[in-house]
Amino acid sequence: MHHFEYHNGRLHAEDIPVEDLARQFGTPLYVYSKATFSRHFQAFDSAFSALPHITCYSVKANSNLCVLRLLASLGAGMDIVSGGELHRALKAGVSPEKIVYSGVGKRPEEIRQALDAGILMFNVESREELRTISAIASESGRIARISLRINPDVDPKTHPYISTGMKKNKFGLDMETSLETYRMAKGLPGIEPVGIDCHIGSQLTSIEPFLEALDKLVEFYGKLREMGIDIRYLDLGGGLGITYNEEEPPHPEAFGKALTERLKGLPLTIILEPGRVIAGNAGILVTKVLYTKSTPSKDFVIVDAAMNDLVRPSLYGSFHRIAEVVEHNRPKINVDVVGPICESGDFLARDRELPNVESGELLAAFSAGAYGFAMSSQYNSRPRAAEVMVDGEVTVLARRRETYDDLVAAEMGCLERVVD
Ligand SMILES: *Cc1c(COP(=O)(O)O)cnc(C)c1O
Repeated sequence: MHHFEYHNGRLHAEDIPVEDLARQFGTPLYVYSKATFSRHFQAFDSAFSALPHITCYSVKANSNLCVLRLLASLGAGMDIVSGGELHRALKAGVSPEKIVYSGVGKRPEEIRQALDAGILMFNVESREELRTISAIASESGRIARISLRINPDVDPKTHPYISTGMKKNKFGLDMETSLETYRMAKGLPGIEPVGIDCHIGSQLTSIEPFLEALDKLVEFYGKLREMGIDIRYLDLGGGLGITYNEEEPPHPEAFGKALTERLKGLPLTIILEPGRVIAGNAGILVTKVLYTKSTPSKDFVIVDAAMNDLVRPSLYGSFHRIAEVVEHNRPKINVDVVGPICESGDFLARDRELPNVESGELLAAFSAGAYGFAMSSQYNSRPRAAEVMVDGEVTVLARRRETYDDLVAAEMGCLERVVD
């Protein structure tokens, strides 16, 4: 069951024609399907039902409060990577004991904030970070539960920018250093080592690299037990891929089954940090055609969404399927779909066969629910897009479109201070 479907040639988000949403809320517009978010979360979560586990949705994929609230209501925990994400998760009603905190560069004030909130654990990525957490925790008489993020040195065979678990990446600690660091952690005040963590990359389309990493972690777990370290959590990170174009990633059910087979019987609570697989195909970006233009070498479709709204094509050369919101059955031509930003890297698609669209018509970029709005910016002083969440025949404005005043609000003070 898909929730972005054509009925009589008109794209719908659940029960609402997307053209109606564009008319009401303007473009560029992110449209999310509540039923899709729920279905994706439940499919993933239930794939691990045979194991004690917590599914900690990765907030950075799509951090809209509506999304976080919905997932929290379904029982999700959260994986955060900043104090700002902690703030969002708590605002959305996520219980702190289901929050894990990852990332290579946690600032002292962010660590304090997370200790105050009482999160489940810190996924620690360096010895210096561990010492800092120890100092902050002991100074406030608290105990920080930690796991070390282990870099298992497996090749996830994904884009280099989103591969994180190879020796050359900045993430985690190699296995040998990790062992010594656990020994060190055991003796540090304010620190309780409770978990082992890894996250090897994103948009993985096969189970093999996960299993390879898992085997290394399970072996490592045995060593820690021998050292008398009482590990209770095994965090396998996120990274399960989705279909943008023709990828055939494993279904969450197969993923869960494969991992469950290896983990059954171990006295561990499994933590998973899915982001993209929950959010990616639960959202689209709707944009309006401003102009079309033919040059001697290329045809361009110039739209009102740009790299500041959806940076993935520019940043990673990623593919997003693009289609008309209302089908006209015109012949297809080869075009570049580009935005108004003053960068040649500003494109949503290159060399794409698209029906010959006209100015004023709407296009949808699919699979834009993850790392879409979350990575958006105001570059070229473009107010960020609005976001709506559709639930059957009902639409909730998840984020209002930014205004010109929003663009300058944080700078107004300088007008008085600057001397002419
Ligand atoms: C980005 C990230 C995730 C989520 O990755 P997806 O590919 O979106 O599932 C999970 N854990 C950590 C530590 C991350 O940095």
